[in-house]
Amino acid sequence: MMKTRLITHVEFWPIDIPITDPFVVATGTRVVAENVFMRITLNDGTCGYGEAAPFPEVGGEDREYCLATLERLASSLIDEAVQGYRTLAYHMAEMASTQPAARCALETALLDAYCRAAQIPMWQFWGGADVRPRETDITIPITTLDHTITLACGWYEKGFRLFKMKVGKDVDSDIRRLEAVHKTLTNIAFIGDGNQGFSREQCLTFVNGVKKFGGKVVLLEQPVARDDLDSMAAIRQETGIPVAADESVRSLDDARKVVECGAADYINIKIMKTGVLEAADIASFALRSGLKLMIGGMVEARIAMGCSFSLVLGMKGFDVLDLDTPLLLATDPVHGGYQYVGPQLQPWTTAGLGMSVEVPPEARHVLEK
Ligand SMILES: [Mg+2]
Repeated sequence: MMKTRLITHVEFWPIDIPITDPFVVATGTRVVAENVFMRITLNDGTCGYGEAAPFPEVGGEDREYCLATLERLASSLIDEAVQGYRTLAYHMAEMASTQPAARCALETALLDAYCRAAQIPMWQFWGGADVRPRETDITIPITTLDHTITLACGWYEKGFRLFKMKVGKDVDSDIRRLEAVHKTLTNIAFIGDGNQGFSREQCLTFVNGVKKFGGKVVLLEQPVARDDLDSMAAIRQETGIPVAADESVRSLDDARKVVECGAADYINIKIMKTGVLEAADIASFALRSGLKLMIGGMVEARIAMGCSFSLVLGMKGFDVLDLDTPLLLATDPVHGGYQYVGPQLQPWTTAGLGMSVEVPPEARHVLEK
């Protein structure tokens, strides 16, 4: 057994990371990732890192609210044993049920510190069931036809073959964008991510339009409003294309409803929607219920995305990886950890997430009095 290690110090700071191309989806636009990094230190000097990527359009959290929540939650962790991470996570969920991004940062940092103290990679913590390089899709935001082609060709040259097309704002231009990419590139497949932007009829129009030119859509992600589970179930039947529930699943209860309604083939697991442990619980539940798993993120750097990748490597059963957002950022402020080689994510072998970041002088500190 690992000897008890207490949390003595929590630091967190806002970090702005420019996005190379404006990230336009049906529900909003981002040009800068306004995230928060954090570091937890234990009484033996072991550190753990975490990241929050609040995305107000999905989670309802903005960064100021997230920072205020972190201040409150971090105080509750001081002098607690890192081994109690699960109890601490439950306690944080009670204290801040509607701020999953803030909780996600703290949970990630707790798990990272715990795994470093135990000298195991974070994927080992989840069971180490599927440790191998894995391929991610690449996201193409909603943009002009010309720019869509330019972006898709750039990623294609780097080896990407699965294009997650953001759609759901204008069906006709969505179809034209997919058609242009389909005619320019060979041997590719599409995910259509509607971000709740379609009606059931619009989604059918979209699918029929793409079928007409021979485009291959392998997955329809959250085509309609999150609560419209009946339409999602109907879309599965009417198109024969698997549907992934993303915004529809922001808790284990949501996942149960999706299963009961037969609303999806896949659940898109995102630690930023629920915190880390609940994400793992939802993934286990989905697999037990016969659903498949996709994993994605908000606009995250490699700390949060590394934590998600640890679930993929540790748990087994994640078929579709949408772990591409660090590639959409203009800079990478994180050292070490998993690496990208074209579309492949390469596992790491060092303890925890195997990463570090510099703590800036303006970081807020929470420590024992
Ligand atoms: Mg999505």
